[in-house]
Amino acid sequence: MMRPLFDSHAHYHDSHFYDPALGIGRDELLSRLFAEEICGVVNVGTDLDDSRAAAELAERFEPMYAAAGIYPSSCPLRDDSSSVRETLEKLETLLKHPKIIAIGEIGLDFHYDTVPKPVQRIWFEAQLELAERVGLPVIIHSRDAHGLTAEILKNHPGVRGVLHSYSGSAETAAELTRFGWFFSFSGVVTFQNAKKLASVVPTIPDDRLLIETDAPYLTPVPFRGRINHSGYLRYTAEQIAQLRHTDPDTVADLTRRNAEALFGISVKTS
Ligand SMILES: [Zn+2]
Repeated sequence: MMRPLFDSHAHYHDSHFYDPALGIGRDELLSRLFAEEICGVVNVGTDLDDSRAAAELAERFEPMYAAAGIYPSSCPLRDDSSSVRETLEKLETLLKHPKIIAIGEIGLDFHYDTVPKPVQRIWFEAQLELAERVGLPVIIHSRDAHGLTAEILKNHPGVRGVLHSYSGSAETAAELTRFGWFFSFSGVVTFQNAKKLASVVPTIPDDRLLIETDAPYLTPVPFRGRINHSGYLRYTAEQIAQLRHTDPDTVADLTRRNAEALFGISVKTS
């Protein structure tokens, strides 16, 4: 069996995990995964209530951690300074939760325009400033917005974190590597049409690589169409190992150590 894997990004409090199509109860699934192949999961929030739910689930499983933040498509449309301040005060209180180890997921999503770009940007930058002030790493979501995301991150050199399900270029990755950033790859690397991404994966330095499911989404080949969970993470690890001309155990070990370094945690492997 493969060395235990650390899943840097999932949403186990999502309603998909109550879908009978999962074929097993969520808590039973998590207990089995933590007993067998998964040594840790970061359960990520998308708004205040969702982040609270992420943290509450993490209270019940020792290897589960949580992240709290306001996702670009979940940003309140009110962007005046007093409503931003009020929401971020609540977020800052939530960050004191003992299982919350990062701010996220935050960023820019220009694929969906439900929240205007300037509003997304205000919330993104305000949360980066909060991260800098409280000294927590961040988990970045960036879709169809890689250039502006990189520019904003470079303008906040005091913040560190991970670009989740990274889909940008090797050039942008090399630039952000110099600013201390990590890159997490999901099941998308197994997709037939992910040729460009396949060329980016081997360029990431060993000490900046992470892996994730983004469960319940982005299920890797050969299970596309099913509800994703960490039990499928090994397919992503195997594909990454192949692309980097190494073996899956090496990928498992280095991504686990990188998660420990980025999130400031110590992961049990037995
Ligand atoms: Zn996510």
